[in-house]
Amino acid sequence: MADDRKSEMEAVLRKQRAAHNQMRPEPMALRKDRIERAMKLLRDHGEDLCKVMAADFGNRSPHQSMITDIAGTVNFGKYCLKSMDKWARAEKRHVQFPLGLLGAKAELRYEPKGVVGILSPWNFPVNLSFGPLMQIFAAGNRAMIKPSEFTEKTSLLTKELVEEYFTPDECAVFTGGPEVAAAFSELPFDHLIFTGSTATGRKVMEAAAKNLVPVTLELGGKSPVFMGESADFAKAGERVAMGKMMNAGQICLAPDYLYVPESKQDEAIHGVWQGTASMYPTLLDNEDYASVVTDRHFDRLQELVADARDKGAEVIEVNPGNEDFSNTNARKMPLTILKNVNDDMRAMQEEIFGPVLPVKTYGSIDEAIDYVNEHDRPLGLYYFGQDAAEREKVLTKTISGGVTVNDVIFHISMEDLPFGGVGPSGMGSYHGVEGFREFSHARSIYTQPKIDVAKLGGFKPPYGPATEKAVKTMMK
Ligand code: NAD
Repeated sequence: MADDRKSEMEAVLRKQRAAHNQMRPEPMALRKDRIERAMKLLRDHGEDLCKVMAADFGNRSPHQSMITDIAGTVNFGKYCLKSMDKWARAEKRHVQFPLGLLGAKAELRYEPKGVVGILSPWNFPVNLSFGPLMQIFAAGNRAMIKPSEFTEKTSLLTKELVEEYFTPDECAVFTGGPEVAAAFSELPFDHLIFTGSTATGRKVMEAAAKNLVPVTLELGGKSPVFMGESADFAKAGERVAMGKMMNAGQICLAPDYLYVPESKQDEAIHGVWQGTASMYPTLLDNEDYASVVTDRHFDRLQELVADARDKGAEVIEVNPGNEDFSNTNARKMPLTILKNVNDDMRAMQEEIFGPVLPVKTYGSIDEAIDYVNEHDRPLGLYYFGQDAAEREKVLTKTISGGVTVNDVIFHISMEDLPFGGVGPSGMGSYHGVEGFREFSHARSIYTQPKIDVAKLGGFKPPYGPATEKAVKTMMK
């Protein structure tokens, strides 16, 4: 069965590559038309997609889906349309003296790679497949998408719509479980972009390595929030609450844990409590608050809390409406703050990816910096405070995929900034010109002048004084 699916995918890959070769150079007008069609698909069927996303999650606000998955992605398409002529321009590069005087030329061209695979997760199922797709098209490629099996209805509708708006040699969608995903990651693409967990990312890279397929890995991890002494804790709490509660914390960039000065712990927790309560006075029947995606993820989150409680953490449930969560199968979970955490707790060992928020305290900011540096390089890092020297200390002594200062998550929404991780939180990036380049091959083109440069430079046997002179000059 899996073998049949693999042969089917291989056949599409061959077709796409043949069409790509035939169409080179892929005209800018055609690339733009593909982006326009992707935008039209989202404009025409945004509401349908929001409905199926809500059904897949159990509950997910169509307003939220409209912002995060549909409008945000259309807007990104617009940005690509506006920027791609500039991105695609060939660049003149410098040639060493005196080659320029002799007529040599160096040029860099950004050329399409060919067929790019997209393996996407369930948490923002439309954004994380169509977002990369916009830049894959901008760079003149074709695409094959394998969306997540956890958001099955969304994946099926995506497949239907893609078939309506694109020919199979431009873009094709393959649905199925982990076996199909694994077979997909083994295909000899010209590039593969994977968004998902670090553990699966490892498998994807291993499979891609067999064919030396270059990969972009958009992974996860524990994104810390540094709160400085000088932070406005009420405002910071509100912003953390907003970032943590959106999509019920199921965001790769969600603030994973807070790191606060010892003396400010209660103030910081109070800020988050207030911020949460004012946005979500109730949760169970509140359409704005998403469910946890599956029973498995829900149970995992409950286990993280139980494990922390057993090991001595204080558990604070932010349940402003005093609702009873025990008798519901809606997989809704209130924000659960964990105080007095330590590294023996699972909540401090794995990415949380849900509405659980450990709070750690520090005596000095250096202690917090050391802690973060001793752990995996995070995808996002957040600093709240007005102390510029402290902020720079945190930024220059740590490393992370990206940073938002005085808020969380927002750096991803800056279209012109590259988005990606570093080390265990990922490699490569998209958004910005970097995304266009990620899906392009930077091809170096050197044009030799008429004069015999090899002889002039002493590279041509018989070696003699010209060679010695060249070596001397280079070694000086
Ligand atoms: P996941 O790793 O479980 O699954 C992602 C995709 O991988 C799915 O489409 C799945 O079908 C596929 N897959 C499963 N097994 C595979 C295998 N053996 N080989 C190849 N592919 C396989 O991730 P998830 O649970 O869907 O998403 C949550 C994770 O994604 C979190 O860790 C989160 O931080 C991360 N994430 C990262 C970003 C980012 O942009 N950096 C964005 C969203 C989510």
